[in-house]
Amino acid sequence: MKVAVFSSKPFDRAFLEEHNSSYGHKLVFFEERLTEQSSTLAIGFSAVCIFVNDQLNSKVLMELSENGTSLIALRSAGFNNVDIVTAGELGLTVVRVPEYSSYAVAEHTVALIMALNRRVCRAHSRVREGNFSLEGLLGFELHGSTIGIVGTGRIGKIIAKILNGFGCVLLAFDPSPNSECGSFGVKYVSLDELYSKSDVITLHCPLMPRTHHMISAEAISRIKTGVMLINTSRGALIDTTAVIEALKSGKIGYLGLDVYEEEADVFFEDLSNQIIQDDVLARLLTFPNVIITGHQAFFTRNALENIAKTTLANITDFEKGQPCANEINAEIMMR
Ligand code: NAD
Repeated sequence: MKVAVFSSKPFDRAFLEEHNSSYGHKLVFFEERLTEQSSTLAIGFSAVCIFVNDQLNSKVLMELSENGTSLIALRSAGFNNVDIVTAGELGLTVVRVPEYSSYAVAEHTVALIMALNRRVCRAHSRVREGNFSLEGLLGFELHGSTIGIVGTGRIGKIIAKILNGFGCVLLAFDPSPNSECGSFGVKYVSLDELYSKSDVITLHCPLMPRTHHMISAEAISRIKTGVMLINTSRGALIDTTAVIEALKSGKIGYLGLDVYEEEADVFFEDLSNQIIQDDVLARLLTFPNVIITGHQAFFTRNALENIAKTTLANITDFEKGQPCANEINAEIMMR
């Protein structure tokens, strides 16, 4: 199939081209994100291949449909950036890569917890300046600490497995509890109990209308003072403005983010020679107890290989008219 690959970086191109020798699709790479402004680039392509910050709202989907595109192949697990209902109404098929980096994301989550707790980034900069003082570097032992895992699907389950090894007390909330988690010592509780008892809260549920801003000012009022909050899932699970107020008051003691609700215009680009225009992000970057990484939790060799292979196989399934296990539609979303 003739595929327009949007938001493509050199690493996407390298992995997709390497594996495409077994599939033979005609891949054309665009650095641009697919948005209302760039959708004409897709004219003449029967498939578009997109990543997490491409924005396929109803207007873009209608244009794609009118211009002959019939397949949207996501290189990600999350699909909150595609209006799935409209895609279905227009007869567009949407496929994704449901699992490519669960270990990568879980391990990065634990890296954020460890780096925040033991102030690794501050210590590293300090020591490089010849300052060996321990002031401000005091941590706590994860062993015996209570970790609240919100969402125990593929990634949350692995977090539970890893942190069980640390000897943490594990609480979880998930409307569909995972039967495997019991063997890692996970106790399912209400969201209220998880908020009030956890020393660390880590988010691993999808972004949907009902989880949008689930960490609101009201939710923050129910959490333990000094909590460590980690989000490697999707930025808009958190009301960032409310979180900044809680960081200022000390209600939130540590914040680790790999995702940010307004990341689309910033992440994945080198803006080091520019002035950051996003005042909320700029404020977040001033806190000594905040670590932000730029949506890199998935970014391992293993994951890029899995993304490339699954994406190309999904496109081939569609081309051959075969059922694709990785298709996503409104019905699946409701489950
Ligand atoms: P998954 O679908 O396997 O698991 C999600 C879990 O969340 C499910 O068990 C589901 O029942 C649960 N859930 C749904 N609604 C909930 C709610 N209101 N409260 C609590 N739990 C709820 O997904 P996954 O593969 O574990 O991925 C989790 C998220 O991680 C994805 O949605 C994606 O947005 C994000 N992700 C981020 C990166 C990254 O690089 N930062 C990479 C991959 C995935």
